[in-house]
Amino acid sequence: MTDPAGHILIRGGRLLDASSHEAKPTDILIEGNTILELGPPGLAAPEGARVIDAADRMLIPGLVNAHTHGHGSLAKGTNDRWSLELLLNSAPWTSGHRTLEDKRVAAMLNAADLVRKGCTACYDLYFEFPVPTVEGLEAVAQGYGEVGVRALVAPMMADRLFYEAIPGLMEAIPDALRGRVETVRAAPFAESLAALRKVLPEGRGDRAMFDLGLAPTIPLHCSDDFMTACRDLAEEYDTRVHMHLAESKVQAVVAPRAYDGKTLTAHLDALGLLGPRFTGAHCIWLDADDIGRMADNGICVAHNPGSNLRLGSGVAPARALLDAGVNLGVGTDGSQCSDNQNLFEAMRLAAFVSRIGNPDVETWIGAEDAFRMATEGGARLLGQEGVLGRVAPGYRADIVFLDLTHVNYIPLNDPLYHVVFCEDGSAVDSVMVDGRMVLEHGRFTTFDEAALRRDAQAAVERLREANAESRIFSQALEAHVAMYCVGLANQAYPVDRKLAGQV
Ligand SMILES: [Zn+2]
Repeated sequence: MTDPAGHILIRGGRLLDASSHEAKPTDILIEGNTILELGPPGLAAPEGARVIDAADRMLIPGLVNAHTHGHGSLAKGTNDRWSLELLLNSAPWTSGHRTLEDKRVAAMLNAADLVRKGCTACYDLYFEFPVPTVEGLEAVAQGYGEVGVRALVAPMMADRLFYEAIPGLMEAIPDALRGRVETVRAAPFAESLAALRKVLPEGRGDRAMFDLGLAPTIPLHCSDDFMTACRDLAEEYDTRVHMHLAESKVQAVVAPRAYDGKTLTAHLDALGLLGPRFTGAHCIWLDADDIGRMADNGICVAHNPGSNLRLGSGVAPARALLDAGVNLGVGTDGSQCSDNQNLFEAMRLAAFVSRIGNPDVETWIGAEDAFRMATEGGARLLGQEGVLGRVAPGYRADIVFLDLTHVNYIPLNDPLYHVVFCEDGSAVDSVMVDGRMVLEHGRFTTFDEAALRRDAQAAVERLREANAESRIFSQALEAHVAMYCVGLANQAYPVDRKLAGQV
């Protein structure tokens, strides 16, 4: 019997309700890509509906990764003791010489990692050097599409080099090296925007499945004219803007010199960047006025606790942001600086870092806060509030099946605590995105994983050769960048985010 409406009935699973901490037996009826009805076991389904057995499975909404970099998937496992500034210094060799095929493969690999760890949607700040291209964005869209995961891709752009962005850094580089640094110039931003103007009108498809945003990457790396042009373009095309904001102490310390005494956040506010379309990533080095500005303007924040720990950036004031009414999502950041796309780990760390040096348990981020950030918070940050982030009628069918026979759930106590604290991604059994089973009992249904493995390995081996010389040059600069930036990071700043200081 055929079922032209394409109904699916997920039968026998236990659906997590984060507010009651319960996982009650619930059947889920789906029509096409949308959840139609939830009900007790035995829920009736139209004749011919496909039935998916979810016995021994806990069902949760697909997690939303609020901040990643798809290009970073090919650079995982390349580095250890890097601060943000050393990571930026390495970009020419970790992301250089990518062909269109490399761009597709990197996006696909990132997408596969996301799905395996229970994510069904992400906000990807993808980097193409020197400027985003129509063909590059199509390759990225293809990579995500082949795996079948949702992506809001915001090309990461700058019109200043890292070495120009930090006042005094260029002068701190010895003459013998500076000559070569000065020969490289960031492309004029008009080129980046021209590429986006070409692709924005048609390249977005079903905007809940694939969409394009704008990422002028870091305030100090972008001229004011560039940032305001992005603001206007986002308005014109009704899309979103994502920037790294107050991520490192170095940036916070130099901002008043670059911006007439203002903080990074105050400067973006003065430029009219802050608003409901805007997401700030990291948002660590904020003062109380900055937090107030973020709340007043209704911006979203992508909280990346794992990356912030790895790069030694500090601890973001997540509780103060939540209390002020700012919407938070949780992100992993790119795999080149936080190693994987595991949002279970990011959720857990979001809870844990809020406790550093802070004795007041009432202010700690708890399991419910962390879970909400990783689901509904992320959905709102993507502009998909009411569409993604919950398993409820009317929402798109993004559902993660967790294996309750896995040791992570033996014995089963509070289901929410198991998901936020015990789960590490290893009990992810199956993943549905938009009503389609993308991962089924640990196997991808959408693409050939062995071929992806081969393609990714071949790409990195070729890129290692192609970027060898540029790697040596970055390494020669490393000690000088580190010394200058450590000097800045040791300067006094009105707030301390290294030892917590949560408010
Ligand atoms: Zn980032």
